[in-house]
Amino acid sequence: MERILAFSCHPDDLEFEAAGTLALLAAKGYEIHCATMTGGEVGSQTEKPQDIRNIRLKEAEESARVLKGTYHYAGGHDLQVEYNDYYRKITTRVLREVDPYIVLTQPPSDYLVDHEETSKLVRNAAFIASVPSFDCGVPTTPMKRIPYLYYWNAIDLQDIFGRPLPMHFGVDVASVMDKKEQMLACHKSQRDWLKYIFKWDAYMENMKNETRNQGKLIGREYGECFIQHLGSGHPQDNILGRILGDYLVDLLEK
Ligand SMILES: [Zn+2]
Repeated sequence: MERILAFSCHPDDLEFEAAGTLALLAAKGYEIHCATMTGGEVGSQTEKPQDIRNIRLKEAEESARVLKGTYHYAGGHDLQVEYNDYYRKITTRVLREVDPYIVLTQPPSDYLVDHEETSKLVRNAAFIASVPSFDCGVPTTPMKRIPYLYYWNAIDLQDIFGRPLPMHFGVDVASVMDKKEQMLACHKSQRDWLKYIFKWDAYMENMKNETRNQGKLIGREYGECFIQHLGSGHPQDNILGRILGDYLVDLLEK
């Protein structure tokens, strides 16, 4: 079966914005791969960076396992992600390892530069992974095709100017909210950290609110919205529409 790759910056990003869609794709028989650029080393007030990274990589692995998926750590560092040669290589290595049919990633505009740089790196890797002469620094097999590429929504559903992103469609994820909650619940270390930094203990509630608010955009109880990358070279038809059928609501026709 074809492979789907969800590539986020930190462990727990994709659980907020795309886990429901991944659960629907897994139920259709697609092979799920989850990757993170960083190990989320800064996400703790008590643990040392290497310790919290180990904890968070395990949590991300557990989350992927909810969908019988495989987890990949690109090898990047929290709050240091930048569009440079090192990161281009490690990102392209993951793309070539998975050889995905469809890629989902962070949107180009989001509250954290780490997220935006990850978006740019994944977009670039999706394109250059099939260029045989691009050297990742380790043995890899170039991809044979350029995958479909989609961006999920930004945190708080807004760009850095406070405006909503121009989402193309939403996916009705009401039937798989239990899986989405189960995946987010794997990230136990983050509940404590967010409580400490934001003085707020509503990790799960916030995810549900954000998914509910995206549901409103498509007239369903819960939703996840996406923008399709339509740059030259990438497939231009909406494959997720063909796979997900009635679960997908077009926002461009509304
Ligand atoms: Zn993040």
